[in-house]
Amino acid sequence: MPPSRTIVHFDLDAFFVEVEILSRPDLRGKPLIVGGSRERGVVTTCSYEARKYGVHSAMPMKRAVQLCPQALILPGSRGEYSKYSRWVTDIISAKAPLFEKASIDEFYLDLTGMDRFFKPFEWTVALREEIMVKTGLPISFGMATSKMVAKMATNEAKPNGYLQIPPGKEAAFLAPLKIDKIPGVGEHTASLLKDMGLRLIRDIAEYPPALLEQRLGNYGLELSEKSRGMHMGSEVAPYHEAKSVSTENTFGENTDDMDFLMRELVRMTEKIASELRKDNKMAGCLSVKIRYPDFETTQRQTSIPYSFYDDELIPVAKDLFHKLYRKGMKVRLLGVRLSELTGEAKQTNLFSDAEKKSVLYQAIDGVRYRFGKKSLTKGGALGGK
Ligand SMILES: [Mg+2]
Repeated sequence: MPPSRTIVHFDLDAFFVEVEILSRPDLRGKPLIVGGSRERGVVTTCSYEARKYGVHSAMPMKRAVQLCPQALILPGSRGEYSKYSRWVTDIISAKAPLFEKASIDEFYLDLTGMDRFFKPFEWTVALREEIMVKTGLPISFGMATSKMVAKMATNEAKPNGYLQIPPGKEAAFLAPLKIDKIPGVGEHTASLLKDMGLRLIRDIAEYPPALLEQRLGNYGLELSEKSRGMHMGSEVAPYHEAKSVSTENTFGENTDDMDFLMRELVRMTEKIASELRKDNKMAGCLSVKIRYPDFETTQRQTSIPYSFYDDELIPVAKDLFHKLYRKGMKVRLLGVRLSELTGEAKQTNLFSDAEKKSVLYQAIDGVRYRFGKKSLTKGGALGGK
């Protein structure tokens, strides 16, 4: 048996709400919902005071307002969230040997083998303290032998707490929890299992794996492993600032044709933005590169609110280009790069028109996929002026 791993899952508590409270302390203790308007959109996140009324994230705003009419609805300040997310990332990155940024407010750390150098649990408690003191944001963590159990430990520790599940204690920790606490088990699977008489994770653990397989296929076997804390899942994927998508183009002929250069810039930005959307990732940094005929190369980058939308990225690319470009010079090569990528782009819920926009982009990506890259590369239709 391989030595057991030491995995930490960090999750900022009600992240968007807490960022709002930093600039408006009078909101503390009140039921708050960050999301669209009262009439439309979904709840991005809400304060624990609102959760008491049954409000939860991804719930339609209409329903949330019915449950908690006195809640204050905040539209959200995306730039601020990105800023604080980066700050927490920087603090973790300075200390942790290996970490993954799973989303804007969630991190996995792999501390396996670090007990030779420090006590992983005490070290993590100190790191949590540092994050809270520096940023003013509450954060919870779970420590366990796999990402799944660590994440579930965090969920049990919330709000504002931490929980360690020692090696060998996974099954005992999981046993009394409800089935839908297993990450990835949605309403559909939960009700299917309920029909089989299974309600708690213990019930799955004690159920014959072969019968679970009969009902749910491979997923049944996976659930069986998960219920006993035996499912090791994926590794902690190292986070690199440099992780990026980029494209560049050396022109057949050096050119100073501004219309052409702008069209190219738009085309390239759309291309890499669509790659991001395909991977469900967002970028926190955009850079533009220009090479002149004498091979002199200049590059400039800027931090942006996390995004994977053409109409948000194109104006930034154009702005950078104009800041960078030396008037009258011919250009030999043009490049665009998106970096500081973060996974799980769920924070897009934040826009009140997020769904509409997301459907629109799905359509665009679909057309691109079916008819090739040439078919939709104007950018104009999406406000990429
Ligand atoms: Mg969170």
